[in-house]
Amino acid sequence: MKKILLFMLAVAVFHSCKLGNQNDTKPVTDMLAAHLDTSVSAAEDFFEYANGGWIKQNPIPASESGWGIGNLVQEEIYNRLKKINEDAVTAKAADGSVSQKIGDFWQSAMDTVALNNAGITPLKNDLDKINAIQNTTDLLNEAAALKMEGVNCFFGDYVAQDDKNSEMMAYKLDQGGLGMPNRDYYFKTDARTEQIRMAYKQYLLKTFKQLGNDDAAAQKNATAVYALETKLATASRKLEDLRDPYKNYNKMNVADLSKLAANINWNDFTKNIGIVKLDSVIVGQPEFYTALNHEIVSTNIADWKNYLQFHLISSFSGYLDSVSFNNIFIYSQTLSGAKEPRARWKRVLDAEEGAMGEALGQLFVKEYFNETAKKRYIDMVEAIRDAYKDRINKLSWMSDSTKQKALAKLAKITQKVGYPDKWKDFSALKIDKGPYVLNIQRSRVWWHNYNFNKLGKPVDRTEWDMTPQTYNAYYNPSNNEIVLPAGIFAVPGYKDADLDDALVYGYAAASTIGHEITHGFDDQGRQYDPEGNLTNWWSIKDSTEFSNRAKGIINQFGEFNPVDTFHINGNATQGENIADLGGMLLGLDAFKKTEAFKKNEKIGGLTQLQRYFLGYALGWMYEERKERLASQVMTDVHAPAKERVNGPVVNIPEFYEAFGIKPGDKMYRPDSLRVSIW
Ligand SMILES: [Zn+2]
Repeated sequence: MKKILLFMLAVAVFHSCKLGNQNDTKPVTDMLAAHLDTSVSAAEDFFEYANGGWIKQNPIPASESGWGIGNLVQEEIYNRLKKINEDAVTAKAADGSVSQKIGDFWQSAMDTVALNNAGITPLKNDLDKINAIQNTTDLLNEAAALKMEGVNCFFGDYVAQDDKNSEMMAYKLDQGGLGMPNRDYYFKTDARTEQIRMAYKQYLLKTFKQLGNDDAAAQKNATAVYALETKLATASRKLEDLRDPYKNYNKMNVADLSKLAANINWNDFTKNIGIVKLDSVIVGQPEFYTALNHEIVSTNIADWKNYLQFHLISSFSGYLDSVSFNNIFIYSQTLSGAKEPRARWKRVLDAEEGAMGEALGQLFVKEYFNETAKKRYIDMVEAIRDAYKDRINKLSWMSDSTKQKALAKLAKITQKVGYPDKWKDFSALKIDKGPYVLNIQRSRVWWHNYNFNKLGKPVDRTEWDMTPQTYNAYYNPSNNEIVLPAGIFAVPGYKDADLDDALVYGYAAASTIGHEITHGFDDQGRQYDPEGNLTNWWSIKDSTEFSNRAKGIINQFGEFNPVDTFHINGNATQGENIADLGGMLLGLDAFKKTEAFKKNEKIGGLTQLQRYFLGYALGWMYEERKERLASQVMTDVHAPAKERVNGPVVNIPEFYEAFGIKPGDKMYRPDSLRVSIW
């Protein structure tokens, strides 16, 4: 995946001059030139040089954890979607139509008076069922019901392609059940993590008071739930230990699963979540299930009931009254650094996106997606594929037999651009005027059923896992495909045709298309074959060569220290960093074949090569708060924006040429330490 937050693609208040139309009598209005901070040398800090001018003029809004080019694109998308929603409210659409659903969803969510009057009573049915739990059987039955409503509890489970047989869908069981983002939050001893833990414990306490407990009981419950989660965290793998697809692949039949975790009646549990027939499961982290199995009987039922109550409220806190929202917001501030909540209507659009994003996307592309732009990017994918082919052929470290297999995989990568050919059918999803939280609940059940119905059926390779209006992109190893939603090509205030090639090759060809294609050949993607199966197609020698080269990038990123004492996790982020470096090299190869590069005319006082690197940096024009930086380093497999720019460029000879970087400069990296993989 390209990025967790937003970003990518450009923006602009300023118009970039078209190539060949540079007119010296006009004032400089070039976007790239306007964003520079010329008080910083490119040789000292390329990111600050490229983006510092814009960042200084655009402080992070109080409601945000960071702010950058992606937010501006997202703002544009929000405004378009808001209009679609408001129009739907007044449309008087037929009952059951997409427009009726969108209009009613919006109305149910925006009526804060009704929401505050209701408090948590819309969840009374679920709370009563939890209160009625008497024994382990009841507990697991209720856990199954809550899981169908998307409540995070006990463990993670989902339906996805079988890694070793991409034609089949499999039921997968992972570690999970924590309230904080991952296991490290329960154990790290630095001051920032201590503070996050304190805030989380306060959140637990407030929730138990909200549920009607007196102070002493609330404190007792909070302590017990925290202790229980700490045990689950102890048994959970670290972020970097989740990267090996073989270690995450432990296929077994239900009888063996029942031996691994005998205190869960798996036949009952899987039937309760809607699975009709189940031959096998793929367990990601068996040791987690051993620990969970122990806790199911050694933790008393009262504590488990409190655990479920808390996770129920927490899971729906954004769709209830202001008390529920404020309680979780105060805790989440320690992770995001946001000074105030985001506007309600934006949070509602995020929720609607999760509930029925494709329904919204259908209306979105009808109004806003441009076929000319689509063609430009489809062609660009092929240019990047050609560049990759040349690179593989020229690799000095790879044997011919592995090269042939790599080329076969490259040729088979499919591309999806813009929006799906076939839309998801939301007709079975009931959306009405409220309560809001029940709309969310029904949509989660709809999604659960939608996904679990895939079990035992052929894989639908036309499906999209992102909506068209998403500002992001992904590579799916099981389908060997790259998926580039229309949203990633949205350029507010800008016509796509007005963007010069150097800029577009930097930010679209390199940082999106080249990046996603390289994921097919990063530390994880390379382990899947052209058909999307986890199979080893590498010779031992070539595989060792790759790993040694990847070590270079692991070490390089491990040197970065973006906040406090937190260093980037070089191991956990290696796949993304390999993709960034590969994408930048492929984009550059493809760009060198364009007329624009060959003519080499300056735009905005910048050479074509400079514009290419600045175009890449533009995709990461983003500043973030310390809290958000710390969260990112602990939980995200993507390095922060600044390092995603300054990290890869120092490995590329043309970067030195473009900006005259010399030994002794901060951006200078000795030849012996430069990383070269693809
Ligand atoms: Zn990625």
